[in-house]
Amino acid sequence: MTATNPHAGLPITDDDAAIAAALEDVSIPTLLLSLVHMTGDPSYIRGAIRPRMLVLNEVQGFLPEEDKAEARRMALEAIKAFRDGGCVLPPPPSPELVREMMSWVACEDVPEEYVPMILEEMELDGVDARRVEVHADAAAREAFPVVVIGCGQSGLLAGIRLKEAGIPFTIVEKNPGVGGTWWENSYPGCRVDVGNHFYCYSFEPSDHWSEFFSQQPELQRYFEDVMKRHGIEPHIRFGTEVVQAVWDEPSATWAVTVRGPGGAEEVLTARAVISAVGLLNRPKLPDIPGMADFEGPAFHSAQWDHSVDYAGKRVAQIGAGASGFQIAPTIAPDVAHLTVFQRTAQWMFPNTNYHARVGDGVRWALRHLPFYGRWYRFLIFWPGSDGALMSARIDPEWEHQDRSISARNDFTRQIFTDWIKSQVGDDEELLAKVLPDYPATGKRTLQDNGSWLRALKRDNVDLVREGIDRIEKDAVVTVSGERYEADVIVYATGFQANRYLYPMHIVGRGGVVLAEQFGDEPAAYLGITMPNFPNFFCLYGPGTNLAHGGSLIFHSECQMRYVSGCVDALIRDGRRSMEPRPEVAAEYRARHQAEIKQLVWSHESIKHSWFKNADGDIHVISPWRLVDYWEWTKRPDLADFAID
Ligand code: NAP
Repeated sequence: MTATNPHAGLPITDDDAAIAAALEDVSIPTLLLSLVHMTGDPSYIRGAIRPRMLVLNEVQGFLPEEDKAEARRMALEAIKAFRDGGCVLPPPPSPELVREMMSWVACEDVPEEYVPMILEEMELDGVDARRVEVHADAAAREAFPVVVIGCGQSGLLAGIRLKEAGIPFTIVEKNPGVGGTWWENSYPGCRVDVGNHFYCYSFEPSDHWSEFFSQQPELQRYFEDVMKRHGIEPHIRFGTEVVQAVWDEPSATWAVTVRGPGGAEEVLTARAVISAVGLLNRPKLPDIPGMADFEGPAFHSAQWDHSVDYAGKRVAQIGAGASGFQIAPTIAPDVAHLTVFQRTAQWMFPNTNYHARVGDGVRWALRHLPFYGRWYRFLIFWPGSDGALMSARIDPEWEHQDRSISARNDFTRQIFTDWIKSQVGDDEELLAKVLPDYPATGKRTLQDNGSWLRALKRDNVDLVREGIDRIEKDAVVTVSGERYEADVIVYATGFQANRYLYPMHIVGRGGVVLAEQFGDEPAAYLGITMPNFPNFFCLYGPGTNLAHGGSLIFHSECQMRYVSGCVDALIRDGRRSMEPRPEVAAEYRARHQAEIKQLVWSHESIKHSWFKNADGDIHVISPWRLVDYWEWTKRPDLADFAID
């Protein structure tokens, strides 16, 4: 083990009291795992102290207080010895021991097939395995300019990987700054709902988050810092939008038309295009009669008008999915009155840490204790990923399809229902409004620490579950004729999720237009490449949104490794172009559809969901286990491609 491994921890120089104070704050199972690295002694996980259960966002393993105290006592001794010995790490644990450590903390036998993926995540050797080298000389690389569309998390990642590989690239970003969704969504209360110690780049330290689920300004700053640290800024054209991209067969290049801040258009030539435009990017406004007649300010959640002072005003919030769920509790204390129009009730997952700050001790541990941050990541990764997919499978034999999809899902429904009842059980009318009538987890499940229902119980907040008939100059009117007067309307009504790459005009080989090829059923092989679109790669493309769990940044890292492998294959042997063979793409699409139809999100009781297209079919969600997707995207199989 060398000291250069970024996950091995910075040297410890703190005095005993400071270390002891830090240990009061930390995750005890994670601490014990770190001690195994620090000492080379597996007995820390082979003794009497054993986590009872691993549940998402609970990081103490339900250990009794006396076990925690004993663990802290042992840890203090070990850390002091480590510090006094010059912080020299013993050799890393063997893969067998790592698997034992995983199983110990997961409280279940972690299958062998997960070990390589988790080992890669752990980076015990300090090697970033998702970084791909391009095996070609500088001249060949120079002759392969790439255009990346978008500079959110995936576009920035693409830039970092291309820079590492020595490939010239330009990132075209329509916003004036970096961050994509975390640039645009600045509405009050906006925060991530995948734990930040997993929702971050695997190759960047994660010891700086001030909250476990950061708010938008901190996330945007993170991407800005990463951009600067990796020297990506000079490659980005901000305030510039891609209008169209047209494939030119004779030169095997893409002509990418961009419109700059002043409106002037320019054509960039690229050997490959990487689309990193995101999925939830183009706001969707509802089509309600009279919207244009409203005389007060009205705006979409993703286009929050910060010049509007909502304090003391009557606000109508139309839509209460993930965005609305965060907005209402945040603005409720300040407004005169808030009326929330919610078409479909939402299931929510109890998470007491949702608004919690990361304590100083945890930050110290993340920074100094060997592999503490990696194991902490695993603690979020494991219970929040493939296990949840198992629970999403519809059991056709299950007899209570009216309320759940399986015995397991019925149990989840019970837990979620109890959580809701524990908060509003004393208010029958509100309870009836907030209990969903479709299977648990059937739409995006929201993280909740009680703030949503607390807000709805306020005297100045009303929840309306009735349809909206029209909007008048100063009110929203429901189908029963009830008028709700408002000074401001917030549309938290979601995004045009099924229109991938909209509104860009992408023209592939033989004049095929991508929007027409997609129609209402967008598909891409592994969510990345499409027939007829040579050297065109999608990050977060069709069928790759994660509904069961996991972090989209992890997914993007898988996708970008695959794309880098394709770029390497093209440059290395001087190939002109590659696109997936139609039969390979068709087989994948059929498999994707067959799989997704068996999962909870397809359940017929779910009438409104951005996961579904107009026909009720799902083309935006991944039905795959992360371990499978990770395996499939490790490197491209060139036999899947038509290569010129
Ligand atoms: P959303 O979940 O699609 O919610 C849109 C809301 O507007 C829903 O309540 C929807 O009702 C309602 N609505 C849409 N059209 C309507 C109409 N014509 N009339 C009445 N109501 C209408 O959109 P979102 O809240 O912006 O979230 C979208 C996705 O972004 C999330 O699922 C999540 O993936 C992501 N997101 C994540 C976070 C986070 O990480 N914390 C935060 C925000 C968003 P129905 O439910 O009946 O369709």
